[in-house]
Amino acid sequence: MTHKKGRVFSGARPTGRQHLGNYLGAMKNYVALQEDYECIYCIVDLHALTTLETTFELRQNTYEMALDWLAVGIRPEESIVFVQSHVPQVTELHTLLSMVTPLGKLTDLPTFKEKVRSQPNNVNYGLVGYPVLMTADIVLYKAGLVPVGVDQAPHIEFARETVRSFNYRYQTNALIEPEMKVTEVPKVLGIDGQQKMGKSLNNHIELAATPQETTQRVMSMVTDPQRMRRTDPGRPEVCNVFTMHKVFSPAEEVSMIDSECRRAGIGCVDCKKRFAANLNAHLEPFRTRRAALDQNPDAVWDVLHDGARRARQIAEATMEEVRAAIGLAPIQR
Ligand code: SF4
Repeated sequence: MTHKKGRVFSGARPTGRQHLGNYLGAMKNYVALQEDYECIYCIVDLHALTTLETTFELRQNTYEMALDWLAVGIRPEESIVFVQSHVPQVTELHTLLSMVTPLGKLTDLPTFKEKVRSQPNNVNYGLVGYPVLMTADIVLYKAGLVPVGVDQAPHIEFARETVRSFNYRYQTNALIEPEMKVTEVPKVLGIDGQQKMGKSLNNHIELAATPQETTQRVMSMVTDPQRMRRTDPGRPEVCNVFTMHKVFSPAEEVSMIDSECRRAGIGCVDCKKRFAANLNAHLEPFRTRRAALDQNPDAVWDVLHDGARRARQIAEATMEEVRAAIGLAPIQR
């Protein structure tokens, strides 16, 4: 891994089967980053506990998400893929970092205020400390880079400030300040054409859906709202189907749809059928790989366990430096 440019960390909550929004917003980038970086990808199940009402599906959702990650092209033989709770050092570092984090700073964060609004009956301690746990996730593995969209920049700034506070307080350089690797993340709208694609809104298209299910979802996509009749000219620039064509269809087809839509030369039904066909063709190799992996769930868990073992090695080395910097008595092994 010495030829790589640096170490990247990213985590995502175990939300089960992934959808097109997850793919275009994160997974595609995860796969690409492997070419140049040493990548650590974490399924952050502890973070999920801050908002989940029930943990009934947590384990299955972790498994399904891992399946999707591996099927899409994350390579566990070079990248570390693991589950957050399998590396207990992260909770230790979370506690230690919380000692250098002013409470007011956490309760002032817009993300915390938003959570208080959205779940007023479950404003738990973990929710307040969420950014500290997120910082612990990143710095535990000495990741220099975190891929983020511009809207997540404040999270990384928080992590950087926390690292500075810790290093200053204990006069150490045990922790490194992560840098943002800002990526152009397209805003992926759901099939309603209005809101961001998400499971909770049931406006998503799952990567692992069958071709028939996928086509059905695509055919229900909302198009240009002003195009009422087949003979009306359309406006591709406001149409979510066209946005998706631009990602999944060949350039010549995109160009044809662009011009034909404007002169009512193509109808929305035909346009959606074309998109469904292109999307299904794009997803076919993914579905085949996923089905093969799903034949042997133990092997998928083995990948996660091996990833956790490798992650723990890095984590424990960091924690030894951190404990020494603070002046905690050494642990007897
Ligand atoms: Fe959208 Fe295609 Fe209909 Fe044009 S023809 S409005 S691009 S679905």
